Amino acid sequence: MLAEELVLKQRTKILHALCSSGSAEHLERVLDILLAQGALIWEDYQNIQVPGRTLYTNARQLLDLVYTKGVDTCGLFLHALKLVLPEAQAVGLSFSESCSNLEENDERQSTSNQTLLAQRPSLVHKLQGCVDGVLEALLDSGHFSSADCDEVRLPIYTPTQQARRLLDHVRSRGDLAASVLLQYIHQKQEPGLPLNQRELTPPKEFLKYQKKLSSSVSAQACFLSTYGGTSHMSLDDIYTDGELELAEVNAHGPLGLEDIVGLAGIVNEEADTVLVSGEAGSGKSTLLQRLHLLWARGLALQDFLLLFPFSCRRLNSEHNELSVQELLFQHCCWPDRNQEEIFQFILDHPHQILFTFDGLDELKQSFTDEHRVCCPTQRAPVHVLLFNLIQGSLMKGVQKVVTSRSEAVSPLLKKHLRKEVVLKGFSPAGIDCFVRKHHRDPTVAAKVLESMQANTALLGLCHSPVLCWIVSQCHKELLGCGEGSPKTITDVYLMILQHFLQHQSPLKSTMGLGWLQEHLKTVLLLGQLAFEGIRSTCYIFSGTDLEACGVTEKDICMVFLIKSKDMSSTHSKCYEFSHVTLQCFFAALFIVLSSNTNRSVIPKLFELENMRETGLTRVCFGACLPSSDQQQQASEKESKAAETPNLQITAMFVSGLLSQRHQNLWLHCCPSAAVEKKARQVAKCLSKGIQKHFRSIPQPVQGEKKSMHAMPDFVWLIKCLYEMQESQIAKDAMSKLEVDHLKLTYCNIGPVECTALAYVLQHLRNPVGLQLDNNSVGDVGVEQLLPCMHICNSLYLRNNNITDEGIRKLIAKVIQCDSFQKIAYRLSSNVTLLLGNNNITAEGATQLAEGLKVNQTLAYLGLWGNRIGDAGTEALASSLEKSNSLVWLSLVGNGVGSAGACALANLIRKSTSLQELWLTENCITRTGVECLIQALKHNTYVTSVWLRNNDLSLEDVEEMKQLESRLIF
Ligand code: ADP
Repeated sequence: MLAEELVLKQRTKILHALCSSGSAEHLERVLDILLAQGALIWEDYQNIQVPGRTLYTNARQLLDLVYTKGVDTCGLFLHALKLVLPEAQAVGLSFSESCSNLEENDERQSTSNQTLLAQRPSLVHKLQGCVDGVLEALLDSGHFSSADCDEVRLPIYTPTQQARRLLDHVRSRGDLAASVLLQYIHQKQEPGLPLNQRELTPPKEFLKYQKKLSSSVSAQACFLSTYGGTSHMSLDDIYTDGELELAEVNAHGPLGLEDIVGLAGIVNEEADTVLVSGEAGSGKSTLLQRLHLLWARGLALQDFLLLFPFSCRRLNSEHNELSVQELLFQHCCWPDRNQEEIFQFILDHPHQILFTFDGLDELKQSFTDEHRVCCPTQRAPVHVLLFNLIQGSLMKGVQKVVTSRSEAVSPLLKKHLRKEVVLKGFSPAGIDCFVRKHHRDPTVAAKVLESMQANTALLGLCHSPVLCWIVSQCHKELLGCGEGSPKTITDVYLMILQHFLQHQSPLKSTMGLGWLQEHLKTVLLLGQLAFEGIRSTCYIFSGTDLEACGVTEKDICMVFLIKSKDMSSTHSKCYEFSHVTLQCFFAALFIVLSSNTNRSVIPKLFELENMRETGLTRVCFGACLPSSDQQQQASEKESKAAETPNLQITAMFVSGLLSQRHQNLWLHCCPSAAVEKKARQVAKCLSKGIQKHFRSIPQPVQGEKKSMHAMPDFVWLIKCLYEMQESQIAKDAMSKLEVDHLKLTYCNIGPVECTALAYVLQHLRNPVGLQLDNNSVGDVGVEQLLPCMHICNSLYLRNNNITDEGIRKLIAKVIQCDSFQKIAYRLSSNVTLLLGNNNITAEGATQLAEGLKVNQTLAYLGLWGNRIGDAGTEALASSLEKSNSLVWLSLVGNGVGSAGACALANLIRKSTSLQELWLTENCITRTGVECLIQALKHNTYVTSVWLRNNDLSLEDVEEMKQLESRLIF
């Protein structure tokens, strides 16, 4: 089919793919490419990117234009689309093959302004992290005024949008301004080096080594280990993009894999280490694996000549002192000859080298910067080398990417970070995409997806890739279980346990509840191995370790344990659990089932205490445990931090397994009295833990609310309570928690945590304000929160990726559950509703307006940084007209034009409560402001209307200021 036809036929799909995420990033990237190619001229671009117009309108305009420009432009457009769209959004679209390559166009660049156009895509990328520097240079050179700079820096823009606005402004200032920008970027890229000296020619031996390293990296990276025991699955076939965000900077645009080492979001220019953080199972190792593979194939990170991948798990078993040179060559790839020359080349070109360290949280020692090593040939224990590499005292300039679970990252380590990127797991579209890749048969995929959608608690869990993998593996169990479909994380792991145990056994008798009893011996053996491993921070087990625990070949080929990959291949066969969470699960099974564990194991587990001295004799891990007492003490202290996340996960599984719902499982496996006793112990520990948090809240100053800023462990305790699924225990634990405001900002709260929070918080005795700003609640999370809405008197959800869908659910669900009157009641208890910086459009605002119609208590409504536009503003203004409680309304940065302003003018006319109206950063023109001025003549309650950065000329502003002093420009 011709490209033109493809554009026409797929118009709706293309529009959806470009715009449905609510972010303008994809459209803008396509425009960048088309501009660079000369497929669009500057005037075309300006006609498409009209400020204040909706994203869909802009995208439609682009489609019309490329279509009228003919087949070549359509071909280029489709190709650009293919490059830009993440896989999940490109599903179902076909792209023509017949098009030219999209390399940046070097021919037309005789002036700096032409270079800006021709190199636009890469300039947008390169400008990230240095927009401020360029602005300063332009200010110094007199090309920009400070108002220009403010315009580029508007907080409503994402970092890439700021880069684009900068390029647009520079273009309008002429060639000299463009050359200031280009010069700044060149200097930034290679400080101190003139442009023409940047090329380097590596020696021949080096190139051979590069080839050897990349083929070894590629071989290690091309299969996913979790599939090792079941069916081989190549990473290409299953890899699905996860959601990446900058930890510090609030960026809306999706981050791509290469942005991890790119310029976006750098907080410390001096540092070389980027941290990728995320929960266990969020896909950190898989993401690194993907990066390795893309690098080895020459498809990404091509600024780096060599990439050295390390696994901290494997570094734990290196007991010799090594130099950096030995570390690189022995652990990654051995040069056949000229080691010295190759290493010297590495030392001379640090900026072209990348190290990755997977699972820093699994290293036995916690990060310290006490022992300094600066010389690359000096030997030191491997963890000391690693810490010096991270802080840059060794191999300064070499970029390092480190992954770790968030809770294991100490403030000391943060000091040495260039930036932190958070991996949030799969988006809803990602879950869909993953399931379709996992099940080649589309009917099966559709069924699995349907049953996931039917159980939102399960759907919430599937945002975690490891759980999505388990659920997909066990699809038969999932589809067969109807009512009893899994709800908690423990349910999901029990499902995989049953799945693989039953697959192992040819006997039919394992149906029903007998399956555990039949495999009890294996479960206990693997459980003991896991438990001992967790206690000693050991994740890789040698054949001798397994033998000592009594684990046999039969137990090994059960998928739970897989062969450990080792780059250096000098070690004999080693095994590891297919995921660390599975090790925690087996450890928990052992704690529940074994009669050998000490009585204090459960209390110690919940107090996250070191459990090394408890009951069991040490049967294995000669290699893992230090020999002398002194060494043991030192190592215990150091490894405490590394253990904590795993102890927390284990405790969560123990809570889940000891739930009343699963008691039947243990019937013939261990004495009921013992299990019940353990369950009572857990309930007591959870209640005690919550009380401890409560007691830590300082007494409020008289007249102030009692506010609790939750510590990270609080969310963990809440999740344990949810796993237990016993409302009486949750009720008892929460009954004494008296607090007016619960602050859970920056707590990594996703849909799973929302489910747990709603389950537990509904047992609070008095209403609370729930502050969940800066988390990843998302639309699924909003739905999960509904059961605790009645106990919330305010809900803060700023920066949470909530879209219209979330707002729709919030309103629609409540309509479903109760009468319309009741919505008023429900929303009426929300005296504050802050939903700033989400992705709410006119449609969502209209839903919200409907829900607020009869509300008489909402005082603060914050919707800044959304995209509600004129239509949304009109709906809200008309519904709020009857409110006599609203005192503060913010619609900053929402694409509100004069129509919206006129609707708000009506609100002003009628309102007797509204005091502040925030309309900064919209596109209101003179007409809109005139309406507002007229309305203010009839209103004495409003104290200020903020109108900075709208579509007004300086003269307009001066004139209007004179007319109405409450307008603030
Ligand atoms: P983490 O390192 O954060 O603990 P992993 O990368 O080990 O998580 O992921 C656990 C499992 O989840 C993987 O083995 C794989 O089955 C699945 N998984 C994770 N990320 C992805 C992804 N991006 N695409 C497909 N599957 C993934």
